[in-house]
Amino acid sequence: MKITRMATMATGLFMALSVTAACGSSTKTVDKKGTDAGSVKGALIGVTMPTKSSERWIHDGDNLKSSLEKLGYKVDLQYAENDIPTQVNQVENQITRGAKLLIIASIDNKSLSTQLQEAADKHIPVIAYDRLLLKSPNVDYYATFDNYKVGVLQATALLTGLGLKKEDGSDGTAKGPFNIELFAGSPDDNNSSYFWNGAMDTLKPYIQKGTLVVKSKETDFKTAAILRWDPATAQKRMEDLITKAYTGGTKVNGVLSPYDGLSIGILSALKSAGYGTSGQPYPVVTGQDAELASVKSILKGEQYSTVYKDTRQLAAVTVKMADTVLKGGKPEVNNTKDYNNGVKVVPSMLLQPVLIFKDNVQKNLVDTGYYTQQQLQ
Ligand code: BGC
Repeated sequence: MKITRMATMATGLFMALSVTAACGSSTKTVDKKGTDAGSVKGALIGVTMPTKSSERWIHDGDNLKSSLEKLGYKVDLQYAENDIPTQVNQVENQITRGAKLLIIASIDNKSLSTQLQEAADKHIPVIAYDRLLLKSPNVDYYATFDNYKVGVLQATALLTGLGLKKEDGSDGTAKGPFNIELFAGSPDDNNSSYFWNGAMDTLKPYIQKGTLVVKSKETDFKTAAILRWDPATAQKRMEDLITKAYTGGTKVNGVLSPYDGLSIGILSALKSAGYGTSGQPYPVVTGQDAELASVKSILKGEQYSTVYKDTRQLAAVTVKMADTVLKGGKPEVNNTKDYNNGVKVVPSMLLQPVLIFKDNVQKNLVDTGYYTQQQLQ
């Protein structure tokens, strides 16, 4: 009863208002039903994800699709297996098929500018999902995690694993020096440099003091970057680093890895070189995404840490954003300064990442329902 009255009041309010859509690319008039003049009920939303080869994007896509469908939207969900032209075609098709809004997790941050312009010409709002789209004015909103903080957490995990810091953030008792190697994400993914900068700002004081030593001397982003986040490329680079810098009994003590898939490749290379035994334990290897295989590896004492980004939360805020924009409203954002895409600062919603070690898997990943106990067995 109460709800009906509130709904009537809200409808009345909408009738009185002519709302200008918050996104730069579209101006819409809100009608009696609180939807835009073209009516968004049953509207098609195009969702493009980079690849199914990493578990997280499967969760992202599934969560987005089911939540949007619950609100009555139709969803075209596409994966491009990390192939740029495929993703370009998928977005192009969604525009042709009459999508009313696009949600895009890009492969290459700059390759969709033509499609984004077409979308703007047709007043189709665009939400960049997890990865920012660069060099285009036609990106209306961005939903992601605090990417700089992800890097800080990865470096903090490395320091904790080496005993230079304690889990509560205070200084640890270890003195070093420790040998470490550094990996970065795909250079065409805008997030990669945020992860890298967060990590390097945290590690640099230790490198400068000589507490951490990058034996290979490969300390710049370009050299450390792994194109398309490919695990096999990371494995090969780790093999090369071992051959080049770890001869004559010198051991690697820690590896900064920005993504669980890379961590698995890195651990394989280490295993082939004799690490992972009681006499020669694995170095401290970090990660990101809390993918199932890596969480299991953490529980076995192989990979040391990961960064959990609850894809359910990201999908939920993105769906809310999309629904609000389509209904002519202004979605909630919490950052309007950090994500400049080279043309404009894109209003963003940043969620908080969580650092995972063996001893907080239960609390953060099982108690929250992200994984069941059985899945982790
Ligand atoms: C995402 C990470 C993911 C990586 C590889 C990044 O853009 O933010 O969560 O690990 O891509 O898929």
